[in-house]
Amino acid sequence: MKAFGPVPSRRLGNSLGINNIFPKVCTYSCVYCQIGKTITLQCDRQAFYDPDGLAREVKEKVHKVKKSNITIDYLSFVPDGEPTLDINLGKIIELIRPLNIKIAVITNGSLINHKDVREDLKKADLVSLKLDAATRKTWLRTDRPHKSLDQ
Ligand code: SF4
Repeated sequence: MKAFGPVPSRRLGNSLGINNIFPKVCTYSCVYCQIGKTITLQCDRQAFYDPDGLAREVKEKVHKVKKSNITIDYLSFVPDGEPTLDINLGKIIELIRPLNIKIAVITNGSLINHKDVREDLKKADLVSLKLDAATRKTWLRTDRPHKSLDQ
């Protein structure tokens, strides 16, 4: 499902999830990942789902939820992988902006050094970056990153 929930979140209130990545494509393969083992470990951005189709699904889901009188506090990119791998992330944010609901992106931050990723993230209202380790050794052991990130 590309649009799911809403689910209650401590930080985001009632959060409607958006899944913009094929399962499970990530820059990391964290030992604790709830989704399971990373199937495709990659750092290159690519197109996943058609942005217009995905935005349409989100809009339909929002209308359905609103009909049930349930409030949505955030539309949150929390996919089965790393959301910034999607080259269309910024475009999708623009397409769902007219819904007038705050937009969050939950990212592992591994691609934040790329200007195009930062430009996309600037379009969101909230960006949550995770930091799992303070040392390289712990980071490698915990997040098991793509080898190009360890340079
Ligand atoms: S970054 Fe997130 S999705 Fe990727 S492996 Fe780690 S916990 Fe799973």
